[in-house]
Amino acid sequence: VLKVYCENVFHGKEKVGTVLVHRDITREFEVDQMKSEFVSTVSHELRTPLASVLGFTELMLTKKLKPERQKKYLTTILNEAKRLTDLINDFLDVQRMESGKQSYEKAYAELDLIIERAVEKQQISAVTHKIVLNLDSKENFIWCDQAKLEQVFTNLISNAIKYSPEGERVEIKVYQEDGFVKADVIDFGLGIPEESIDKLFQKFYRVDNSDRRKIGGTGLGLAIVQEIVKAHEGDITVSSLYGKGSTFTVSLPLVSIKKGYEEDVPEKVPAAE
Ligand code: ADP
Repeated sequence: VLKVYCENVFHGKEKVGTVLVHRDITREFEVDQMKSEFVSTVSHELRTPLASVLGFTELMLTKKLKPERQKKYLTTILNEAKRLTDLINDFLDVQRMESGKQSYEKAYAELDLIIERAVEKQQISAVTHKIVLNLDSKENFIWCDQAKLEQVFTNLISNAIKYSPEGERVEIKVYQEDGFVKADVIDFGLGIPEESIDKLFQKFYRVDNSDRRKIGGTGLGLAIVQEIVKAHEGDITVSSLYGKGSTFTVSLPLVSIKKGYEEDVPEKVPAAE
């Protein structure tokens, strides 16, 4: 995008020429566009769960309801409030990422356990999908911030569920390859159009196809996932067949358990006296 300034040049009263100055304002233009997209995404995404919270609270205050119905409404209010908290946490994460203030508390941990926790949490909220976890029988030790990595898998699994039809299964496969532990999160859902693959990890990017227009989101999830994986010297890739499904693969460097624990575990257990 170019901005053009035009200035006439005079010698005395006589016009002797015109100076044209071009300034490339593509970056400013993009930033402005992103800002207004951000504001409209945020407002929309916050308004939807808030409308549920307000609506159901009002119903409960004004109507005489049976206990089962009250429980149902309260569960909806709780879930929507949780969704709001998740959204706000995503916005805060992105802000911390941008200002370089995101901090990681790393320790040795087994990736399998982290993934198992993420699966358990998702399985509770997503009863419509079956999550299948295939772990190898190896010890997959990594140096990581456990809460942040759990967030990576929670995000990937919830996307797999969100972008596949009810009743489909989501598979997670963990295996070792070339000094890395890899985890494939596989779904059999909408898939990703080829032209979108490159942009998928950009902030606020959402695939704008008719097959998913009604599915809510901010386009921040994958940007946060990629940032966390990179902060662990890892990598995330995606392969997808549009209309068939997608596989997101997270690779993280393996560390030897011996190396990890040598500081914490004494070489010899002292003999009992
Ligand atoms: P959000 O889900 O909030 O839109 P994400 O950053 O998590 O944001 O994902 C960006 C886009 O990538 C989504 O809008 C969606 O269209 C596409 N996408 C992500 N995961 C999947 C998946 N498992 N299957 C199909 N499309 C996906």
